[in-house]
Amino acid sequence: MHGRLYNQATFHIALRPRTPLLIKAGQGQEALDPTLPDMSFVRTLRGGTGEPREEIFIPGSSLRGVVRAHAERLLRTVKPGAACNPLVRDPQKSGTLRPACSPEGRNEDEDDEGRQSRAGAPQAYQQSCYACRLFGNTSIASRVRFSDFFLAGAGEAAAAGVPAPLTETRYGVAIDRVTGAVAHGPFELETVTDALFTGLVEVRNFTVGQFGLLAAALLDLSDGYVAMGYGKSRGLGLVELIFLNLKLRYGPRTPLEPRRLWGVGDLAPAEVLEAYGLRKLAQHDHLEIDAPAGDSQTASSGELTTAPRFLATIELKGEQVRSLLEKATSRWVEEVQ
Ligand SMILES: [Zn+2]
Repeated sequence: MHGRLYNQATFHIALRPRTPLLIKAGQGQEALDPTLPDMSFVRTLRGGTGEPREEIFIPGSSLRGVVRAHAERLLRTVKPGAACNPLVRDPQKSGTLRPACSPEGRNEDEDDEGRQSRAGAPQAYQQSCYACRLFGNTSIASRVRFSDFFLAGAGEAAAAGVPAPLTETRYGVAIDRVTGAVAHGPFELETVTDALFTGLVEVRNFTVGQFGLLAAALLDLSDGYVAMGYGKSRGLGLVELIFLNLKLRYGPRTPLEPRRLWGVGDLAPAEVLEAYGLRKLAQHDHLEIDAPAGDSQTASSGELTTAPRFLATIELKGEQVRSLLEKATSRWVEEVQ
């Protein structure tokens, strides 16, 4: 199913910390600049117009990790087997860790990245749990991609009412649980207290249920039910997500009513649905997109345009995105059960 594009949803998201946030730099990176705290925020070199300089950012893998872990938690509350235990020992591969639902052993059909070729893909998909079908495992590619989130430009941040990035150094100690004495520290933590980061989250060839599960995880993160980064247990790492826009694109098999969220169940041909075990979704893998609210700002959005690679592109903005996400959240529960 990855060989062809049926649908694609691209979220343009701004992320703003609600409580101090620390995404730790990797081992060794701190040593580059001796003036940075012991545990400093991860940085990257960015060019822009002037000299390249070091800037804080949020790696896509950090966001992906927290969204996947929460999606798995949601799945397990509805149906324990819907998300596999990602870390079981594989006896055939000298005890290496692999997702529980990933087919055992290596297959001769695998491509360079160790994933099965198209011939084996439908089988691997059917054997994988609901979480792995969306986020991937060693046998099937992920349907979701998270870009790195970089600091928004000064103009964009000011328009959102966010000041220049604010960081602060805090002090932490580790307490020995037996003696109650300080086991390690004090050490310095560099947290970001306010900043606006922007990036993309993209999902392709999804069912409406898979879109809904991603939506539920993103909304819970934005509403403060999930924290990210270091110090979650002490209240660090709560963030707000601002959904700037959502672009929905459909491949050549777009149905006649484009103002809907269409899942692969209504877009892929019958033989593909059969191979992937998705036949029960046919005819009802879609969701109406509510008409934009009456204000003039959103009235022009949600319109259909054509793009060369895609038959149809629909763009939703701001509150329209959030209302579609909220509407979609119930769909994963139906699909999992
Ligand atoms: Zn799995």
